[in-house]
Amino acid sequence: MRELRYNPLLGQWIMVSAEREKRPWRPKDFCPFCPGGEETGYGWEVLLLPNRFPMLSFNTPKPESKEFYKKARALGQCSVIVETPEHELKDLEELPIEQMTKVVQLWRQITGELKKHPSYCISINFSK
Ligand SMILES: [Zn+2]
Repeated sequence: MRELRYNPLLGQWIMVSAEREKRPWRPKDFCPFCPGGEETGYGWEVLLLPNRFPMLSFNTPKPESKEFYKKARALGQCSVIVETPEHELKDLEELPIEQMTKVVQLWRQITGELKKHPSYCISINFSK
């Protein structure tokens, strides 16, 4: 189950997804995005991975919506971009300009692809 729910008190839509509960717990010092990992492999500079536990999906069913408690489909795509194989960095600002350029080019490519979808309306990029 993933859906958008309208909070009439705040006048805002929120995303709710039970899919996120399926994420596995990992050891404290384990990073699934380091080079050589199960999904990452080697030989990349910027990596695009599908989010295995996405909050949004283009294949999500329409939820039952009631008059006061409005719901809507949680349409969208969630991906993970690994900005660099150098995981010792603490923030994007530490990336060399050449590497940051590659990251922005990938953002641009993904946004361009998403814009072709009839349900597209916004792209949000965030870094952890
Ligand atoms: Zn890592």
